[in-house]
Amino acid sequence: MAIKLRSSREIELLRKAGAIVAEVLSKLQEEARPGISTGELDRLAQEITESAGATALFKGVESPYASKPFSGAICASINEQVVHGIPSMKVKVSNGDLLSVDYGAKLAGYCGDAAVTVGVGDVSPQKQKLMDATKRLLDIAIAESAPGVRWTRVAGMMEKSAAEAGFSVVRDFVGHGIGTEMHEDPKVPNFVSKELRSNDIVLKEGMVLAVEPMVNMGKVAVKTLRDGWTVVTKDGKCSAHFEHTIAITNSGCEVLTA
Ligand code: MG
Repeated sequence: MAIKLRSSREIELLRKAGAIVAEVLSKLQEEARPGISTGELDRLAQEITESAGATALFKGVESPYASKPFSGAICASINEQVVHGIPSMKVKVSNGDLLSVDYGAKLAGYCGDAAVTVGVGDVSPQKQKLMDATKRLLDIAIAESAPGVRWTRVAGMMEKSAAEAGFSVVRDFVGHGIGTEMHEDPKVPNFVSKELRSNDIVLKEGMVLAVEPMVNMGKVAVKTLRDGWTVVTKDGKCSAHFEHTIAITNSGCEVLTA
C-alpha cells in the first residue's frame, strides 16, 4: 500500500477543488425542500461544476454490477438508500425524508469529495438522532486525526459512538485516500476491521483522506438494487451519510471541503 503524501502546493490545489464541493453541497442543502426532484438538484450541481471550470467526479463512473455508467453529478440517496442513489427528475423528495447527497469534483487535476445528509422539512426525532449521530462520527474523525495517530484508534471511537447511539456503522463501504484520483490508497473504514488491524494506517502530514461514515438506524446489512448502483438497507430502515476530504497537517487535520 503506497499512501501518497501531498506537498503544500498540492494541498492548495486540493483546497480549491474542495471549495467547489463545499459550494455545491451548501447550495443543494438550501434547495432540498419538499417537492424538488433529485434530478433538479443534480442539474444544479452540474451547472455550478461547469461554471467553476471543474468536472463532476461521479458522472460516467463504471461499476461491474451496473450495465450503465453512473449518470449523475451527485449521488442522491433517500431514507433507506445508503449511498449511490441515482438522481432523477422522477424522484421527488418529500417532507420528513432523509436525503443524503454525495458529490465530488476535479479541478486542475485534483479532487474533492464530500457528503451531507439533509432532513427535508420536518423529520422525526429518530431520523434527527440518526443524522446527528452520523455527523458526530465524522466530527470525531476530524478531531482525532493528527500525525502519528493510528487509524484503528479513530475508527474504534467512531464505531463505539455509533453503537452508543444504538445504531450500526455500515461495513460494506468505506472511505478512501484521494488526490489526483477520486479513489486512492488507503481504504479508510469507519470501524475496526480485521484488515485494518493487521495493516493499520499511521497518519502522516500530507495524507489526504475522504472520511465518510454511513450509519444505519437498524441492522448493518445492505444490498444493491437491480440498477447496479443504489445501495439500500436490507431491513428498510433509514441510513445517513456524512463525508469530508481532510488533509493531515503538522498538528492535526484541515477539512478541505468545509
Ligand atoms: Mg468518497
